Amino acid sequence: MKCTKCKMQISNVDKREYNHEILCEDCYIDALSPAKFCDPWADYSAKSFMEKNPNSALSQNQLLIIGALKDNGDVDPLFLMEKLKNKIPPEVGERETAALHRMGKIIIENNNGNIVIKLS
Ligand SMILES: [Zn+2]
Repeated sequence: MKCTKCKMQISNVDKREYNHEILCEDCYIDALSPAKFCDPWADYSAKSFMEKNPNSALSQNQLLIIGALKDNGDVDPLFLMEKLKNKIPPEVGERETAALHRMGKIIIENNNGNIVIKLS
């Protein structure tokens, strides 16, 4: 089979699935990489929104994500999506996780390709 992104030939062992796409390990890490959560403008708006609305800043979905992190400790993104899949669609979860990251509520770490989400 081939990686959906870079079209590299991959073996069954190396294949990773993300958002229903078959990816090679590199593209998978890329897809999960905290780098894609970095967006200075969004960063800025999230922070100023928090300053103006400290109590109403978290959406229901974001509270669910925070709750899951409190219950489960440090998790990887797929585990989190799996935990919340009956409540939050994965693409929404990803967006909300990125938003929480920008607000400084959670930390997303990349330990040699192992992405870990933790409460800040
Ligand atoms: Zn690839």
